[in-house]
Amino acid sequence: MNQEFRLFNTLHGKVEPLTLIERDHLRFYSCGPTVYSYAHIGNFRSFLTADLILRTARELGWKTTYVTNITDVGHLTNDDTMDASGEDRMARALRSTEGTRFANVWDLARYYSDALQADWHQLNLLPPDVQPRATEHIREQIQVIEQLLDQGIAYTTSSGVYFSVSKFPEYGKLSGNKAAHALEHAVRDVVVDPEKQDPRDFALWKKDENHLMQWYSPWGWGFPGWHIECSVMAQAYLGDQIDVHAGGEDLIFPHHECEIAQAEALTGVPFARHWVHTRFLQVEGQKMAKRTGNFFTVRDLVQDRGVTPLAVRLALISGQYRKPFNFTFSTLKDSERHIGRLNQAYSIALEAKNQGKEGLGHIQDDVQEKLQMILRALLDDLNTPLAIAHALDGVRTILKYKDVVGMQAYEFMEGVSRILGIVDPTPKEAENAPLSQLNLSRSIGQVPPNNGLDAAEIDELIKKRSVARQSRDFSTADQIRDQLLEMNIELKDGADGTTWELKSNI
Ligand code: AMP
Ligand code: ZN
Repeated sequence: MNQEFRLFNTLHGKVEPLTLIERDHLRFYSCGPTVYSYAHIGNFRSFLTADLILRTARELGWKTTYVTNITDVGHLTNDDTMDASGEDRMARALRSTEGTRFANVWDLARYYSDALQADWHQLNLLPPDVQPRATEHIREQIQVIEQLLDQGIAYTTSSGVYFSVSKFPEYGKLSGNKAAHALEHAVRDVVVDPEKQDPRDFALWKKDENHLMQWYSPWGWGFPGWHIECSVMAQAYLGDQIDVHAGGEDLIFPHHECEIAQAEALTGVPFARHWVHTRFLQVEGQKMAKRTGNFFTVRDLVQDRGVTPLAVRLALISGQYRKPFNFTFSTLKDSERHIGRLNQAYSIALEAKNQGKEGLGHIQDDVQEKLQMILRALLDDLNTPLAIAHALDGVRTILKYKDVVGMQAYEFMEGVSRILGIVDPTPKEAENAPLSQLNLSRSIGQVPPNNGLDAAEIDELIKKRSVARQSRDFSTADQIRDQLLEMNIELKDGADGTTWELKSNI
């Protein structure tokens, strides 16, 4: 079997085999979210690309070191312009209606990063080896900016420190945005620092004594630019050179272009060998936007609409990462059905294994071959639609021959679970039971002390929420869900009604 792992490399504009710096060891960095709000399903489509790269690499027997960051500072609304002008996203979120429930911007960041972990876990994404926060690596960022200044690659103005693009002639090699005049044109309206030497120059440090998040630096109080956090944290955890760097397509320019410049101008060696970018997700054929009502977070679908988390995962990976992807409710419905069949096949396979069944030879060969085909599809530039089709084919076989499948059916289902992450190997029956069937008093017994809850209260709140949802008063419904969440009670909406459980340590 051909074990080459081929992925499109934005740097070279073609599909290429991954060549690792160190044999059988993938060093991988993927850009994480800015935690000023809940991550949406588009964000998760990009995170899922990274997750599948990781799973495929592991299936090849590679060791993996996977780092994905949390941007909890310095991401300005206009950060995609060269000046990083505009308003800080975190500060703006704090001033919004939802923001009023947070004590300060740190509190807000912590809340949304916790929510991210919970959604991450729900969609069965593998945990990264390191998930560094930008705010915890300010010292390293300052040190790198100092080095860039020492070497004359950066300069200071009265408002900050800028990277001097003219000192890095390869600037533009990732995105193709090389023409200075074009860049100048693109950013002309937002140039806010008249001391900038070249319109292409981008901010490494912003001086700001009034900013909600600020640190002391050799240039006074202020905060780092967005681009510097990723190259610095990637290099801190993975070394000067890494194998794969990933993110959504919007990050090609300027974020990743600037990361390359910051890293390579100092080290003189290529920063990342392979650059992988996920095409943006659309919902029902349109750009996702709150104002058009087609904006969804994981919890909008799972908690509020009762969709099975793995169905969301399956729907999000049902299109290849590089192709235009239209998320629809009809796909979601199909995914829900497929997840049901996958779980059914898993139970049959588990039973066959537990009973030590041998299984019929040709069925065994068939599912074994299908597993190889799933891996082969992923090795070919993450062809997820094909991989999923093979998985569902295997499921069909298991369901059809359910009385005569054996150990290999179990290995197949385990393989599908491991490689694609779309099987729930631990169906939790109690969680799915309707509220009326739950032993509330027993659950209450486990509620940590001092949260002042009793079963009737929870029941009452759940009823109130359900009335609010029926009258489409989602803001009240959300408020009740969040109120319970703060008391460690997590609600789950299912086909048979709402159930609750004590939140785990996420
Ligand atoms: P952000 O929180 O905006 O920094 O985004 C986090 C990650 O999600 C980045 O890799 C973005 O490129 C990616 N992303 C944002 N919106 C979408 C979308 N609609 N489809 C796919 N990826 C997205
Ligand atoms: Zn990044």
